[in-house]
Amino acid sequence: MEAKYLFYQLNRCTGCQLCIMACSLARAEVCGEEESLISILTHPNFGTSQPIVDQTCMWEECDERCTQVCAPGVLYVSEQKEWGKLMENPDWNPVPVYVKEKI
Ligand code: SF4
Ligand code: SF4
Repeated sequence: MEAKYLFYQLNRCTGCQLCIMACSLARAEVCGEEESLISILTHPNFGTSQPIVDQTCMWEECDERCTQVCAPGVLYVSEQKEWGKLMENPDWNPVPVYVKEKI
């Protein structure tokens, strides 16, 4: 299976956290940060937000619910053939990937 990567548009995330809810509902039928593979970092002083994603997102079979609920259209699930073009576009960045601690 080919890996998929989430990209996001800089400076457009509102921090609403709907993507977290959507991912956790789709994966575990609950609303929770623990069950979601996407998280949102919000700066405590400036209020700016951006998504980060657990590394397993790239292999997860899903219907990309996080992108569907994101009203400003911040998120985009890309195929490998699109990565070069997206990386050349200053409006788009790959969502940073981290390893989520399992409890
Ligand atoms: S990525 Fe979209 S859905 Fe998620 S917090 Fe940002 S604006 Fe909301
Ligand atoms: S692409 Fe799928 S697995 Fe990854 S964060 Fe979005 S809903 Fe969750």
